[in-house]
Amino acid sequence: MQPSGRLHLGNLVGALQNWVRLQDADRGAAYDCFYFIADWHALTSNYANPGVIGGFGTSVEGFSRDLLVNFLAAGLDPQKCTIFMQSQVLEHAELHLLLSMITPLGWLERVPTFKEKQDEIKDRDLNTYGFLGYPVLQSADILIYRAEHVPVGEDQRAHLEITREIARRFNHLYGQKNVLVEPEALLTEFPKVPGVDGRKMSKSYDNAVYLSDAPETLQKKILTMMTDPARKRRTDAGDPNLCPAYQLHRIFTSSRQELAWAAEGCRTAGIGCIECKKALIKNLLTVLEPIWTRRQEFLKSPSALSDILREGNRKASVAARETMEAVRAAMGAADGSGRVGVLDELDRLK
Ligand code: SF4
Repeated sequence: MQPSGRLHLGNLVGALQNWVRLQDADRGAAYDCFYFIADWHALTSNYANPGVIGGFGTSVEGFSRDLLVNFLAAGLDPQKCTIFMQSQVLEHAELHLLLSMITPLGWLERVPTFKEKQDEIKDRDLNTYGFLGYPVLQSADILIYRAEHVPVGEDQRAHLEITREIARRFNHLYGQKNVLVEPEALLTEFPKVPGVDGRKMSKSYDNAVYLSDAPETLQKKILTMMTDPARKRRTDAGDPNLCPAYQLHRIFTSSRQELAWAAEGCRTAGIGCIECKKALIKNLLTVLEPIWTRRQEFLKSPSALSDILREGNRKASVAARETMEAVRAAMGAADGSGRVGVLDELDRLK
């Protein structure tokens, strides 16, 4: 996940809650999960202002720290999964470089999110080499751990497909079938989380409810959130299916009776929108309050955060180095026993 902004309800429902399920063996699925703060990826759109990302160093600051704290507050457990910072495992950059040599430009230009993001983000120039090559770096991120599965939504399938194509091309070119593993999509149906203006919740649209919003801010955002436009007056009946606030109800209201109460009250004008939204706020708070409490605990102990990240970086590096040794050997770039550096060469010449 990119540390390019604060996390919002869409990130919680669309990714984090699923990641927690995947790490938890006791909920039926046990995976050896790697989750990371993609600080280099965040540079593709924040290259002019890298300070906000707060990565690239030994301490974790800015959006990177916010991301780490939210990972942990949402329930990711460093005892059960590996949590690390992309820029602290340099092998990602090396594999990215090598894969970029074999990736045809046409593959990158047809990735749908390339055009979509350029259209979405208007305040920055995304006509860069790094932005076009984003899927190659993403492929390196996946292939370096020989990941068998990647949890993705339907809209991210194209990215995974290009990763599979790059892995196939690498294995084909360098004659060794299984150096890079083709990952499978672990498709998950995520509910679409609407923002307060009814469009998809996104920080680019300035319509998000953030996990770090204060309770008063959350209340204000929900109370002023868009509803079914047919309900102009309290006595006008509405259709909950046309109401973004009701979509949030569907996601965050666990009681069926309460959901039925909101839908029925809307259709018959038996309840007003304020009443309906107050029930939604109550349910949102039930989900978010434990997350907020854990956030505060982690924010109070920066040394614990550094320790968690250091250990995660170490575990990720071990796995990444192993893959890179096989990759270098397959390409004949080294003897397979490790990095051949300039200093080793100099030693040899002495
Ligand atoms: S009553 Fe609830 S579901 Fe109906 S329009 Fe108002 S907020 Fe939306």
